[in-house]
Amino acid sequence: MSKNQDYSLFNDVCSFVDDAAAHLDLHPGLVEQIKQCNSIYKFNFPLRKDDGSYEVLTGYRIQHSHHKLPVKGGIRFSEHVNEDEVKGLAALMTFKCALVNIPFGGAKGGVRIDPLKYDVGQLERITRRYTSELIKKKFIGPAIDVPAPDYGTGAREMAWIVDTYEAFNPDSINSKGCVTGKPVSQHGIDGRTEATGMGVYIGIREAVSVKEDMEALGLQTGLKDKKIIVQGLGNVGYYSALFCQEAGAKIIGIAEWNGGIYDENGIDVEAIKKYQIENKGFKGYQKGKFIENSGDLLTTACDILIPAALENQITKENAPHIKAKIIGEAANGPVTQEAEKILLEKNIMVIPDMYLNAGGVTVSYFEWLKNLSRVSFGKIEKRYDMQKFDRLLDNIEQATGDKFSEEQRAVIAQGASERDLVNSGLEETMVNAYHSMNKVRHEKKIKSLRTAGFILALDRIAVSYLDLGIFP
Ligand code: GLU
Repeated sequence: MSKNQDYSLFNDVCSFVDDAAAHLDLHPGLVEQIKQCNSIYKFNFPLRKDDGSYEVLTGYRIQHSHHKLPVKGGIRFSEHVNEDEVKGLAALMTFKCALVNIPFGGAKGGVRIDPLKYDVGQLERITRRYTSELIKKKFIGPAIDVPAPDYGTGAREMAWIVDTYEAFNPDSINSKGCVTGKPVSQHGIDGRTEATGMGVYIGIREAVSVKEDMEALGLQTGLKDKKIIVQGLGNVGYYSALFCQEAGAKIIGIAEWNGGIYDENGIDVEAIKKYQIENKGFKGYQKGKFIENSGDLLTTACDILIPAALENQITKENAPHIKAKIIGEAANGPVTQEAEKILLEKNIMVIPDMYLNAGGVTVSYFEWLKNLSRVSFGKIEKRYDMQKFDRLLDNIEQATGDKFSEEQRAVIAQGASERDLVNSGLEETMVNAYHSMNKVRHEKKIKSLRTAGFILALDRIAVSYLDLGIFP
């Protein structure tokens, strides 16, 4: 939620680019071109209410960079959606994709509504109408611009989008790839729902595995017994917390817009989520302490703070009071540029959004590839692999005279399922990107992982432009 009038996510992203550009020898005109949004589409459309009245709604789709096509990024339904926010989020998508080496340009879209104020039928009409506005201007398509879920949208909305797109493009063989994050039954991919949270977990796991970095923060390596506070228990916050807990960390606090919960002994993430769904909040939960003003949890002592809600949450006002050693940005833009400077002064490590929440778009990429190839991952080779491993085990048994148990055979001779391959690709992407980013940080002797991430991303985007011969 934007707390101060002057805050601009887009300006913050531009300053991050400038910080990185200072370390590279790029033509200033090229840096300016890379910073700006290539295409901005703002539109208004009517929603007919059941009582016959009309409400005019505002939608956006902003394509930040066409250096790679299609462009990619989520669609947000929130009453805070505005042009500056969508521009900033679109720009972040460009740098996120470049950093984790996913061949997309960045984009973002949104409708300025509070989705909780509309029933399912109205949300379906809004989503379908939004999609047809994009189709009219060719702002959507598997080769042009591929939306995905973001704050306030999910698989259900993506199913409406693909259905609308197909109605207008019945002869397009690649139409399923016009949007990602679809339900698995609608040509989505197994593992997309958990992907962002899984990526957050892998990113934090990698960060806490580096001995010299942890020593500099006065922490032990590993996630075991690390105390974590999470802001937001939506899709990203929930899965981030769940996977970190499964790896041995203690979730001691969870902040939500309508109150938080704190328990030094650790909160059972699955149980609290169930309670939250049934009771529309944490109030009355038997274990732990209910925190009326959940903002207080941001400044409560812990090892790792994971803001997983919206942008502009850690600002120059609360940054001096943060007691976490590491901030893992699961949301987009939760730490302002001014706040980050204060945090780095205080020797707090910030794992930047453009890296940490890239798991979502990474698995979106796999879904898009699946849609274009029209075959699920693992379908062709799974059984072949199983038989090959079985034959190998038979040979080992013959040579050694030993016998494998049924359980051992089942584990060793299994073929990879779609989910196995998705998780493996996600892990590979997140692990490599973290260590490349951290290497740049150490080589350049800079404190900020974000600047290191932007240096890598900016350099890759610049190469795309330079190879076109547009800039010297
Ligand atoms: N909305 C997500 C993000 O901000 C996912 C984008 C995508 O999958 O295209 O990264």
